[in-house]
Amino acid sequence: MTYIIVPISAPTPQVMMDLADLAVELGAEAIELRVDALTGLAGPVVAELIAGLRQRSGPNMPVMVTCRDKRQGGVLDHPLSNRIDAWVSAIRSGVDFVAVDLDTFRLARVSGQVREALAGSASTHLILSAHSWEGRFTDARRSYDECVDAYPGAIPKLVYTANRINDCFDALDLLRDGLGDKVVFCMGQAGLVTRLLAKKLGGLMTYASLDPASGTAPGQIPLDQMKGLYRSDAINADTEVFGVIGDPVAHSMSPAIHNACFGDLGMNRLYLPFWVAGGRDEFFAFLDAIRARPWLGIRGFSVTVPHKQSALEYAVATGGQVEPLAVRIGAVNTLLLDPQGGIAAFNTDYIGAMEAILSGLGMRRDDLRGRPVAVVGAGGVARAIVAGLRDAGAQVTIYNRTVSRAQVLAEEFGCAYAPLDDLAKVKARLLVNCTTMGMHPDVGTMAVPAEHLRPEMAVFDTVYNPPQTQLLRLAAEKGATCIDGVTMFVNQAQAQFRLFTGQDAAPALMREVTTRSLAGASPLAR
Ligand code: NAP
Repeated sequence: MTYIIVPISAPTPQVMMDLADLAVELGAEAIELRVDALTGLAGPVVAELIAGLRQRSGPNMPVMVTCRDKRQGGVLDHPLSNRIDAWVSAIRSGVDFVAVDLDTFRLARVSGQVREALAGSASTHLILSAHSWEGRFTDARRSYDECVDAYPGAIPKLVYTANRINDCFDALDLLRDGLGDKVVFCMGQAGLVTRLLAKKLGGLMTYASLDPASGTAPGQIPLDQMKGLYRSDAINADTEVFGVIGDPVAHSMSPAIHNACFGDLGMNRLYLPFWVAGGRDEFFAFLDAIRARPWLGIRGFSVTVPHKQSALEYAVATGGQVEPLAVRIGAVNTLLLDPQGGIAAFNTDYIGAMEAILSGLGMRRDDLRGRPVAVVGAGGVARAIVAGLRDAGAQVTIYNRTVSRAQVLAEEFGCAYAPLDDLAKVKARLLVNCTTMGMHPDVGTMAVPAEHLRPEMAVFDTVYNPPQTQLLRLAAEKGATCIDGVTMFVNQAQAQFRLFTGQDAAPALMREVTTRSLAGASPLAR
C-alpha cells in the first residue's frame, strides 16, 4: 500500500483540523501534521490534535506527526525541548507515524526520550528522514542505510532535490531495491516523476498538497492532480509507463490527453512528463538509464522540442527500427521501448497533418498525386509536412521569409520555392501555414495577406493555439475550406496512442481534452 499523504501546516490546531478535514474529504489517504507550524507548540496541544483528528476521521486514517527543525525546512523555530515533547506526546497518543530527522535523532537527548516513548507504544512507527535540499546525496544508499540502522524497524525517508532528470535514478533504484517500508522521492520539477512512480515501485508514501498554494516542498502537486490527471488510484506494480520528453514540458497537454484516454479504456497505463533539460548528451544518458531499468515498465515516449533530432540519432545509434520517412524528415516524435531494451522510432507529426488534410478535403491519399500545394514556412513542421505531401506525390511550392531556407528544403524534397511576396500569385488550392505567425501571443499576425485568400481554396493552419487563428477566420469569411491545427495535433496524438497501445482512443475525448487544456494552456503547450 502506498499512501497519498497530505501535509497540513497551519499556525493553530483549529485551522489544522479544518484543513485535515478538507484533505480527507478530497481523498487524502494519510495526513501529516506539520506541528512545527504551530505557534504554541506543546505536548498537550499535539495530543489534543491527534485525538481530535481520530474522532473526526476515524481510526483508519493514518496520521503522521512531523516537527522539523527550521534548518531542515521547518516552518517555525521551536526549542528542541518543545519538539521532543511533541514527538513523545504524539507517540503516547498512539499516532501511526512520527517523523524525526536523522541528525536530530542522533542527539542523545532526542533518541533517549523518543526510544523510551516508542518502547511503550505498540502502534507508532518511527520514520527517520534525511533531506538534501541542494541536490543529490553524495552516496544515497549510504544515507538510506544510516536511517535504517539508527533504530530497529525505523522507516527510512530519503528526500533530495533533483536538479536534472538524471538525478532521479538514485531515488528510483532505492525505491526498487530497499527492503521493507520506505519513503523515497525527489523534490523539484525534474523530480516529479519519482513522486508519481512511488506507487508503482511500492514506496510507503508519496506527498500531495491540498491545493496549488499549500505545497510544503518544491515539486509537490495538488491531490486532485495526482488523483485526476495522473490517476493515482489506478497505479500498481503492473502499470505500464509512458511519457513526454521535452524542455519545457510543464505545460504539455500530452499527459492530460493520454491519461484521460488510458482511463477511458480502463488501461493500466500511466503517462508522465519527463523534463529533460540540456542537450543531446543529457537526452542520451536519460534513455540509457531508462533502458538499463526494465523494471520501470516504461514502454514509450512522446518526444518534443528540442529532442526530436536526438531521438532519431539515439534510435539509429542503438540499432533501433526507424520509420523510413522519419529518417528523411530527420526527426522522430515517438519512441517505443520493448522490455529487452529494443527501440522503434516514428514520426506522427506528418501523419497527423496528412490525415487532417485528407479528412478536411474529403480525399483519399491518391487524390493528392500531382496536386499543387503551397506550403508557407520552412521550419521543423514544414519539413514533416513537405515530406508527407511529397511522399503522396503532391506538387509542393515552399514559400518562406528566409528564401535560402526554403531553397534547401525544396532541393531536398524535389519542390519549387519562392519568397513570401509570391503568395500574391499563388494558384494552388491547398495552402498550408507552417510558420509561427498567428500563434499566441502574436494572434494578430498572418503569413498570408487576406487579399490572397480565395473561396475555392482550402487553408490549413498548423498553429493550434489559438484553435481559430486570424488566418482561418479570414479564410472562412472568404468562403474557403478551413482545417485547423488542433485537428493535426489530435491526429498525431491519436497515432501515438495507437503505437503505444495498439488501440484507438476516442477521438471526441481527445479533442475535448485538447480543447480544454488549450483554454488554460501557456503558449508553450505541447
Ligand atoms: P520553426 O522551426 O521555428 O519554424 C518557424 C517558421 O516560421 C519558419 O519558416 C520562419 O521563417 C517562420 N516565421 C517565423 N516568424 C515569422 C515572421 N514574422 N514572418 C514570416 N515568417 C515567420 O517552427 P516549427 O516547429 O516548424 O513550428 C511552426 C508552427 O507549427 C508553430 O506555430 C507551431 O505551433 C505549429 N505546430 C503545430 C503542431 C500541430 O500538431 N498542429 C505541431 C507542432 C507545431 P524563417 O525561416 O524566415 O525564420
